[in-house]
Amino acid sequence: MSRLYADIHKRIEGFELDVLIESDAGRIGILGSSGSGKSMTLRSIAGIEDGVSGRIETDGRTLLDSENKINLKPQQRRVGYMFQNYALFPTMSVLGNVTAGLKGSKEDNRARALEMLARFGMAEHAERMPGELSGGQQQRVALARIMVTEPDLILLDEPFSALDGHLRDRMQVEMMEMLEEYPGQVIMVSHSRDELYRFSEELFVLSEGRILRHGETKDVFRNPKTAEAARLTGCKNFADVRALDKNTLEIMDWGVILKLKQEIPEGTSNIGYRAHYFEPVWGQRQENCIEFDLARVDDLPFEKNYYIRTHEDSDASSTDLICWFVQGEVQRQIEEKGMPDWLKLKEEAILFLG
Ligand code: ADP
Ligand code: MG
Repeated sequence: MSRLYADIHKRIEGFELDVLIESDAGRIGILGSSGSGKSMTLRSIAGIEDGVSGRIETDGRTLLDSENKINLKPQQRRVGYMFQNYALFPTMSVLGNVTAGLKGSKEDNRARALEMLARFGMAEHAERMPGELSGGQQQRVALARIMVTEPDLILLDEPFSALDGHLRDRMQVEMMEMLEEYPGQVIMVSHSRDELYRFSEELFVLSEGRILRHGETKDVFRNPKTAEAARLTGCKNFADVRALDKNTLEIMDWGVILKLKQEIPEGTSNIGYRAHYFEPVWGQRQENCIEFDLARVDDLPFEKNYYIRTHEDSDASSTDLICWFVQGEVQRQIEEKGMPDWLKLKEEAILFLG
């Protein structure tokens, strides 16, 4: 079983990276907003970032151990790095790109490269230039170029960031298929929670150069623990709370006192609530309901976004609106019965944050 250990420190003017990534998962995700240190982390592991201290091991091989003055060169690390937008050499053929990193004889390299290109269905394009290829084909070449070097670890730096919508989804599925037979570990960094939710078994949440939270990906989404991690996993609604007793929580700004079956985790100072999880209630107020005071509606192709005023400020200019995102069946109910009178918080959907 592969195991990555990366204890990385680097300080530059105005930014400090200080992360520990320890995992035996095959697919590792690092989620962070722009500027949080994702690329710097990958560059440190690949050995192309200067001035890094700490210790990095893959499969028990030491790549960096600054205390013992070990610092393998990038070529010695057996780490494949796929840059944002693939970074193929534009003036080299597909075959030239794939053989570029190989050391053996010309004939040998050519044979290995062609075999790898064939695995990705690209052998017949070997003499083409990258500019003549579609995005999907470029992705396959970029991956072939990495795989042909037989790396112990593959690093993917926001591989889909330049794409949108359907193409992005398709390329991601394709990437996962191409990696299926790769036995080593893969780290993908991204600011996209959807991408990493799909891709990674273990997730690390990075913010301002630090890991805020890590764990099995689904667990991190279910229980992000901090407001920043919740925000990065897509949570839209946050509010300060006060525990009145073990099972009673007041959300001051939302004008509601929640009665809960479970005990409130110690240290809970605020909560998060995902915009898709409110339940509409018509007529009588039920337990754990907030008043439905509509400020505005956003009409999207497959979803309506309702923005609800909070209890405390009925001021329409407030930026602190509660988001409720509605699709399908619930939207049909609204069309039938009109706007609800209340929104109910489901206990199992509440994110308790410290
Ligand atoms: P991400 O990939 O998560 O967007 P980066 O790892 O590229 O973030 O950058 C992390 C931080 O380091 C940012 O604040 C960025 O501005 C800074 N930074 C990165 N590279 C350099 C550099 N070569 N010189 C100065 N600042 C840099
Ligand atoms: Mg980056």
